[in-house]
Amino acid sequence: MTDCVFCRIIARESHAEIEYEDDAVLVFKDIYPKAPIHLLIVPKRHIESVMAMEAGDVEAMGRCLLAARRLGEAKGFAERGYRVSVHCGPEGGQLVYHVHFHFLAGRPPRA
Ligand code: AMP
Ligand code: ZN
Repeated sequence: MTDCVFCRIIARESHAEIEYEDDAVLVFKDIYPKAPIHLLIVPKRHIESVMAMEAGDVEAMGRCLLAARRLGEAKGFAERGYRVSVHCGPEGGQLVYHVHFHFLAGRPPRA
């Protein structure tokens, strides 16, 4: 059993409300939503952070962004838009060290 909370969700050892899955990516609801729609897009393979990203991670990271585009379209935000953000390291506010893209939609974000 891994001590990474997102790896446990990917392995179905911890519960999450899963919204999308393919061979490279899992998307689930953030437990503390900061917008009407707040999803986390994670690569299935454990990558700690953008700060630890390597050339071999490009495909997995790009697949996450492609999933964001698909979610935006599927949820009706292709025109209105949405925010995709990544927290990087301690001063970037990263709390979970399995890289994840926040997908926030349904309300204009502050700043
Ligand atoms: P950050 O590392 O700053 O991007 O923050 C981690 C995000 O993951 C926060 O928005 C948390 O609410 C969210 N989070 C932490 N644990 C879980 C979990 N078990 N299921 C869903 N979301 C989580
Ligand atoms: Zn992990």
